[in-house]
Amino acid sequence: MNPWFAKAVILIATAAMIVIRAPHGRKSRTVKVVKSGKGHLEVFLLTLAWIAFLVPILWISTSWLAFAERPLYLLPLLVGSVLLMFSLWLFHRSHVDLGANWSVTLELREAHRLVTEGVYRHVRHPMYLAFLLYGLGQAIVIPNWVSGPSYAVAMALLFALRLGPEEALMREHFKGEYDAYEARTKKLIPGVW
Ligand code: SAH
Repeated sequence: MNPWFAKAVILIATAAMIVIRAPHGRKSRTVKVVKSGKGHLEVFLLTLAWIAFLVPILWISTSWLAFAERPLYLLPLLVGSVLLMFSLWLFHRSHVDLGANWSVTLELREAHRLVTEGVYRHVRHPMYLAFLLYGLGQAIVIPNWVSGPSYAVAMALLFALRLGPEEALMREHFKGEYDAYEARTKKLIPGVW
């Protein structure tokens, strides 16, 4: 199949990501930060996430990654597109449920509330699950061995390195409330882990 089918899917998904995040990004700048956990590790992870987000745009707009091209087939294109759509829905729901408590990095906001409802009732990290599924969707849709898995690899690293500090920050602030939430929910996959 012509790779432009995959390029169109990725362009739409990327635009959807930006449209979903934009209003929350704007709103979060108006809510005061009372505690920041943004150290060197966070700066590294945020830079990595940006690079991984932009690699597919490079693949679409230049021929720099042409050496890693592979053929595109209909079934992976469809399966990957469904995964991307589901991940975008989950990304949107997580943002809505987290509301003003969301930060792009590790932070506690003024009047920070522990969210345990909506998609947060099923797992403690639905937004990271959305990112991992988005990465998996891209890996399946993009017929390129470099650009395809780049987002999934970056998100797996972000997840592995940020989860511990994030849960520690939540536990330290919300104490027993977080312990109880932790006791009744899984991290990422409902009922499994
Ligand atoms: N890990 C979550 C949230 C990602 S956004 C998810 O994957 O859905 C990261 C910010 O969300 C962190 O700064 C943290 O302070 C905040 N946060 C994480 N879980 C939260 C929760 N259950 N309630 C309120 N804030 C939360």
